[in-house]
Amino acid sequence: MTETNPIVDALARAGCRLTAPRRAVADLIASYDGHFTAAELESLASERGLQIGRATLFRTLEMLIELRLLERVDLPSGEHAYVRCSPGQHHHHIICSRCGRTADVADPILAGAVADLGRQTGYRVDSHRLELFGLCPSCQTRLKRTA
Ligand SMILES: [Zn+2]
Ligand SMILES: [Zn+2]
Ligand SMILES: [Zn+2]
Repeated sequence: MTETNPIVDALARAGCRLTAPRRAVADLIASYDGHFTAAELESLASERGLQIGRATLFRTLEMLIELRLLERVDLPSGEHAYVRCSPGQHHHHIICSRCGRTADVADPILAGAVADLGRQTGYRVDSHRLELFGLCPSCQTRLKRTA
């Protein structure tokens, strides 16, 4: 097996025990290019004939969020979804509302605006979340072609 799963690698680096169900969840997640919901993961798991309990699934998702390998996002539809993330520098996600593909965006400008808001309100701002939704370049091209 030469195939490497970055999520499995990161779990190993973080010293997490790589139980079979955790590895299976990591494999499921690796097959998504964009966002996914817990329900989608569950149905993909059963499609592939994997036995992953609901509790294990959610616990693994929580663990990956803590390790900042996943981030929870609220879709415009109100659905809760997850996107793969890379720990390290603070960034935001820009998400295609058509195909779900995501990209990371740094926010040097927003960081200043957030600091201003903190000064204005007198709050000590500890964190903020922002998701951007729109059409990715390939969806824009595809739409233009069919128009
Ligand atoms: Zn990210
Ligand atoms: Zn797209
Ligand atoms: Zn930010």
